[in-house]
Amino acid sequence: MLAESESTRPEHLAARPRNGSLARRLVMATLAFCVLFTVATVTVRTWFAWSNNLATMNAELNLIDQVFQGTLSKAVWEMDSEALQAQIDSVALAAPVGRVELRILRPGRPAEVLERQHPGHSGSILAPALHRQLMVTPYPGANEVVGELTIEGDESLLWKRLWKEVGIIMLTQIIQSLALAGLIMGMFNRSVTLHVRRIARHLEQLTPQNLKQHLSLERRSNASDELDLLEAGVNDLQDKLANHLERQTRDEIALAASRDQLAELVEQRTAQLKAANIRLEALTRFDPLTGLANRRHFDELKELEFNRALRHQQPFSVLMCDIDFFKLYNDTYGHAVGDQCLRDVALTMSALFSRSGELVARLGGEEFAVLLPGQNRQQALASGERLRELLENQRLPHSASVVSPYVTLSIGIAELDAATMDRFDQLLQSADKALYRAKSQGRNRCVI
Ligand code: GH3
Ligand code: MG
Ligand code: MG
Repeated sequence: MLAESESTRPEHLAARPRNGSLARRLVMATLAFCVLFTVATVTVRTWFAWSNNLATMNAELNLIDQVFQGTLSKAVWEMDSEALQAQIDSVALAAPVGRVELRILRPGRPAEVLERQHPGHSGSILAPALHRQLMVTPYPGANEVVGELTIEGDESLLWKRLWKEVGIIMLTQIIQSLALAGLIMGMFNRSVTLHVRRIARHLEQLTPQNLKQHLSLERRSNASDELDLLEAGVNDLQDKLANHLERQTRDEIALAASRDQLAELVEQRTAQLKAANIRLEALTRFDPLTGLANRRHFDELKELEFNRALRHQQPFSVLMCDIDFFKLYNDTYGHAVGDQCLRDVALTMSALFSRSGELVARLGGEEFAVLLPGQNRQQALASGERLRELLENQRLPHSASVVSPYVTLSIGIAELDAATMDRFDQLLQSADKALYRAKSQGRNRCVI
């Protein structure tokens, strides 16, 4: 689950750094410092070694002088040239001596010089030299100078000794530096690099699914240092990330749920709205009291039927119906009973005119209109009479009516006359006039 192929792994996450490790760079820096330090140390130590060697050579020359001074003075005083030669040779043979010169001073005579030097010695400006007057004491209290002794140190010996020491100094310094660099590298590797690589590997293998797996450096020391801080920081970050992701997932689920809920609600509301629209549509087309088509619906259909009849040259008639003395009816029985009466009349009319194309509408108050497509005036008259008859048979009491003990209708009838009419309203007007005549002729009748 955690493994990711090397090829797909981002370069900066590779567990092994491409351009050397921190430890290597640290070691290189340490080595560079060691080289500089070694050069400085070697210079200083070489200078001290040189000074020491000069002092040593000085001491050696003094020792040789002390050894040979007495015997040389004696040999000069006694003019024992054999002993003199032998002693000068001995001095010249001593290792630190490069050249030895003995000037024998004799009063009234030029100085005699005896000289010995190491092969290859050609004078020296660096090596120490010792000048000494040779004295004898022929009797107590008298000191007489018999010669001058000069012993020059061997410069090549100085250099030989110096090189040897420089070699040792350099060797120890180099060993020291290498050991230091190795130690630093080892310690850095063990206490830093290893853990940094482990952290890098851990981070590389992190996915949203395994954020709960904490980083563990498994260090033996329990000293709380920067690596511990880093480990705690990484784990803290993981915890925060995991919590954040959990919260996000929860929020997303809640969001999806509320989205679904919202969609359901919208669906419900849409359905309710559709139903309300249908109801509203019905309200706009139908009279709420009687359930018949209202004036608006009547107006929508009247021209349609009128034009169709004109087009097909078919008969078309209209009935205008009005309840007789309805004001008196209301006054007698009350408005609520008046409403019921309107409903009864409406029911009678819609039961009678239920064929396709026929339409009964309440135009207002107690006035009704009936469209009768396909019926001529005689047929319409028959329909009107049939309506009156049906209503009469219902015997709805109307005690205030002058023309009948029951509720009655006056009906005006008109038929479409294609020669004189081109608009429905002309037909309706004609029916209205007929109704007026029905009223004035005594009510409860049909008039064409
Ligand atoms: P006519 O025989 O000449 O038609 O006399 P009428 O009294 O029927 O006519 P009029 O126009 O004088 O009175 C109509 C009455 O109808 C007046 C009003 O109170 C009543 N009316 C109108 N609409 C309604 C309704 O919706 N319900 C009830 N109960 N009465 C209504
Ligand atoms: Mg009326
Ligand atoms: Mg009336």
